[in-house]
Amino acid sequence: MTAPLPGGTPLLELRGVSAGYGPYRALFDVSLEVAEASTVALLGPNGAGKTTVARLCSGLVRPTSGRVVFAGAEITGLPPWRIARAGVSHAPEGRSVFASLTVEENLALELASLGRRGMASALARAYDLFPQLSGRRRQLAGTLSGGEQRMLMLARVLAHPPRLLVVDELSLGLAPVVLEQVYATLHTVRDAGTSMLVIEQHASHALALADRVVVLDKGTVMYAGPTAELGDLRTRFLG
Ligand code: ATP
Repeated sequence: MTAPLPGGTPLLELRGVSAGYGPYRALFDVSLEVAEASTVALLGPNGAGKTTVARLCSGLVRPTSGRVVFAGAEITGLPPWRIARAGVSHAPEGRSVFASLTVEENLALELASLGRRGMASALARAYDLFPQLSGRRRQLAGTLSGGEQRMLMLARVLAHPPRLLVVDELSLGLAPVVLEQVYATLHTVRDAGTSMLVIEQHASHALALADRVVVLDKGTVMYAGPTAELGDLRTRFLG
């Protein structure tokens, strides 16, 4: 069990972060927080910088200035594996599964460090969260449908519950029925106490899940506050 944070310490903090790709600046002085046991929706139009924030949280992009703090400890510039070990899981856009491995092999790879008993209970949890995968344990991941591959990607990051889940554009290309299903799973995971930063271009599912919302546009924060107070920005930026 992880000890609760001292009162008022956010689980994740970006403090005045700027970042980019080579000479291109994608984020300008971005500050945001995710409180423990809360969910933040990170919304905004195409190219706003949402994925760049996700990459910052998991260490795939390093800030050019500013700080990233997780559970009260500086993680700015740490390599992704150390940030993952601290408790941040990043479910990236797309499918991200090993096509030529089976469903169970995909899960087991992620859980290799848990030992035999830890792995058995993590696998049970994965199949509990995504029952469709249970009957397909020996099927090659590359032969799953697009929606099932997305479920497998999520099952991999949720089998061993992270302290913070960063999930990027889950809705992309998913059939409505599958979308409902994966968001229902995220509600279950949230209710069990996992904190989340949920990135979406299509806002409604993320807003239903989140306590707070951050709207990014052109690499800057346009709004940060309770979901209920989003007001005009909902139509202005989110369609
Ligand atoms: P989308 O909803 O379209 O995925 P986004 O809000 O997630 O957009 P980012 O993917 O963070 O936005 O991109 C922010 C800016 O950084 C965009 O202008 C994009 O073209 C640029 N960018 C993103 N990744 C790279 C990269 N690897 N190399 C160069 N520029 C990049």
